[in-house]
Amino acid sequence: MTQHRIYNFNAGPAALPLPVLEEIQASFLDFQGTGMSITEISHRSKPFDAVINDAVGRTQRLLKLGDDHQVLFIQGGASMQFCMIPMNFLGEGDAADYVNTGAWSTKAIKEARIQGKTVNVVASSEDKDFSYIPGNIPFTKDAAFAHITSNNTIKGTQWAEFPDIQTPLVSDMSSDIMSRPFDASRFGLIYAGAQKNIGPAGVCMAIIRKDFLDRTPAGLPAMLKYTTFADKNSMFNTPPCFAIYTLQLVLKWLEETVGGLDKMAAVNQEKADALYGFIDNSDFYRGTAEKESRSRMNVTFRLPSEDLEKRFIETALGEGFGGLKGHRSVGGCRASIYNATGIDAVNALVAFMAEFEKKNA
Ligand SMILES: *Cc1c(COP(=O)(O)O)cnc(C)c1O
Repeated sequence: MTQHRIYNFNAGPAALPLPVLEEIQASFLDFQGTGMSITEISHRSKPFDAVINDAVGRTQRLLKLGDDHQVLFIQGGASMQFCMIPMNFLGEGDAADYVNTGAWSTKAIKEARIQGKTVNVVASSEDKDFSYIPGNIPFTKDAAFAHITSNNTIKGTQWAEFPDIQTPLVSDMSSDIMSRPFDASRFGLIYAGAQKNIGPAGVCMAIIRKDFLDRTPAGLPAMLKYTTFADKNSMFNTPPCFAIYTLQLVLKWLEETVGGLDKMAAVNQEKADALYGFIDNSDFYRGTAEKESRSRMNVTFRLPSEDLEKRFIETALGEGFGGLKGHRSVGGCRASIYNATGIDAVNALVAFMAEFEKKNA
């Protein structure tokens, strides 16, 4: 069978490491000698137990989590977390701080307010079309938590450093989890839809600190309570087995092939430097995020006209570069360069961009 693989710059679902896809393909009909596919075995079986426990163990090692954090797998994507967070962590009289850095933060805020919870939007970058990460944020003293979006997938901005505050942080890390090391101890909850950086769609990783588990009120439906997932090793009901299996293989690749998050961060920096460096040296392409706030995962840029952008995206696709269209809400171009997109793909894209500029400038 001939393989046709393109350079994949999709924002999500996005590229997966080729060795992971190959391992899935090779073991798809007979998972570890069971005579069954991973999609056919019981989630209450020993082989699946090993898969989910391995995924948890690798997450703990990669992020250097202490015993006070628990790793959970929940369905409903990051969007379900937007509603579960205020539901579980904001009781009577509680308020939370939220920083609004784009469409996903805006949705998280909306889902809290719709439940009648008190949300302080302590900073926003909406004044400049979400092109930067706010600084000197006046966080309130007694907030139950402070919610941030570590990487803004649509606008291409990313927190370089996390706020240094006493309030426990809650972060949507959907589009940059496992892309760099960070100190997880200050986070009450970290969550990430898998389909950007760690797996396929269908599962959301949630890393919760035990003191946050204690906040969950009685009287919530089982499927909307973090404690349900924590008490049952994420298997209160049937989990998304195939998504968790793929995620486990991605983490194995990160640990054993890449060599951990320091190594991954260095590669990601190299990729981002190559692309931004080229854009900055060109009068044809223009980056849309402020330099200090630039994302190392989603590189957003414009061309001199919308016509040229359209031609750029079409021509690129014809030459084997996919996913370069900006989010439908903002237009323009975006190259998502998550962990699984290699430096070879980025270098090839830069060469293509240079040639396109030469022909069309
Ligand atoms: C993609 C994305 C989401 C939405 O994730 P779903 O899993 O589709 O709900 C939320 N936040 C960020 C930062 C994202 O990139």
